[in-house]
Amino acid sequence: MKYFSTNNPHLTASLREAVINGLAPDRGLYMPESIRPLSSDFYADIHQLSFHDIAFEVAKAFFGDDIPAEDLRQITADTFCFDVPLVKVANGIFSLELFHGPTLAFKDVGARFMARMLEYFIAHPVQEHQAPRGDVNVLVATSGDTGSAVANGFLGVKGIHVFVLYPKGKVSPIQECQFTTLGRNITAVEVDGVFDDCQRLVKQAFLDADLRHHLSMTSANSINVARLLPQAFYYFYAYAQLRRQQLAGKAPQGAPVISVPSGNFGNLTAGLFAHRMGLPVARFVAANNANDIFYHYLRTGDYSPKASIPTLANAMDVGDPSNFARILALYGSAHKAICKDIAGATYTDDDISTTMRRCHESTGYVLDPHGACAYEALLNHVGPAQPGIFLETAHPAKFKEKVDTILGTEISLPPRLAAFMKGVKHSEPMSSDFADFKAFLLSR
Ligand SMILES: *Cc1c(COP(=O)(O)O)cnc(C)c1O
Repeated sequence: MKYFSTNNPHLTASLREAVINGLAPDRGLYMPESIRPLSSDFYADIHQLSFHDIAFEVAKAFFGDDIPAEDLRQITADTFCFDVPLVKVANGIFSLELFHGPTLAFKDVGARFMARMLEYFIAHPVQEHQAPRGDVNVLVATSGDTGSAVANGFLGVKGIHVFVLYPKGKVSPIQECQFTTLGRNITAVEVDGVFDDCQRLVKQAFLDADLRHHLSMTSANSINVARLLPQAFYYFYAYAQLRRQQLAGKAPQGAPVISVPSGNFGNLTAGLFAHRMGLPVARFVAANNANDIFYHYLRTGDYSPKASIPTLANAMDVGDPSNFARILALYGSAHKAICKDIAGATYTDDDISTTMRRCHESTGYVLDPHGACAYEALLNHVGPAQPGIFLETAHPAKFKEKVDTILGTEISLPPRLAAFMKGVKHSEPMSSDFADFKAFLLSR
């Protein structure tokens, strides 16, 4: 299957090129040329299928032309070594817990899948001269969660070296441990600056002709199709689990409303792909924190990027969501059609704290600040006799200090998280000057 650029439908690439290059040469985002609906048999039997079987069926629809079935099955199996349970929180309200992976955040899914797919392409060059010279270098700027998921997803993968750039003193101790203690093919780069400096260094590196000549580089942000598309898998699995509940009389009948806590909109875009493949969804809700650019777009049709505002749900502090271009491409820029499928919501930090407390008191369920946005948005958009699913994107212990303060609890660290805290930190100090970063990359 071909992938086209959101800036120019005639500029196309193979899956291999799209994954290895990340971004199209005209800076557009890659989109699959066709989206294949799954068969009615698949949907009729979905409640009997395992997560692996479902993921493999969906993976074949996306990648089956480009990767042999057996290899694809292996990549999918290696990605999902953990469960994504649908947990009942209240009558008709379910949490899809996406946080049971190695770094306890939903980005583990996309990061692990992308690592396996890139590994596959490196191990299977099309022609001898197409094999990359030296390692493929994955550069990733992080304000916390992306760095840990990508570093852990790519840890030990042959032929790939990962550089995680993070702002000194501006990520939480737990997050920092998750990518500075790994060693091996993971290098943490501690930038004397803010997150925007990290992002600027990475962008400049991709544009630098000299570096591109010497190094093979790619991005592991959700602009990469290999990270984005596998996020569709768990929407199908959520539906399968909901069907089981419905068949047992434990959930209202009908297609669910699905609420997604959104920052760069990769997660929501993956859900829209699933819907295009025939997944029954009554409506999506894009839940935002105070960074309300998409909410404003839904209301007015006007898209105006802004500088991001720091909030309690910091993985959603995005002022110019990168996957917006993909949503426009999916709907041919038709504002009305977008509003029909997606409702919007925006919440202040006070709203988030209130929601977390209220949910904890009335149901006993502990939300993290990101999931809290989605939960509140779901309550505001689901009908009384309609099933609702919200995506819980991070384990609350990842934000332990905040959660404990808001709820007055003392939640415990899962063993996996505690293990990271015991490691020895190692990182390369770096100024925010591109010349220094370039010299560092060339010296390796
Ligand atoms: C990255 C992240 C989000 C936002 O996901 P997008 O795909 O960027 O919209 C939400 N919650 C958590 C915990 C995250 O790490």
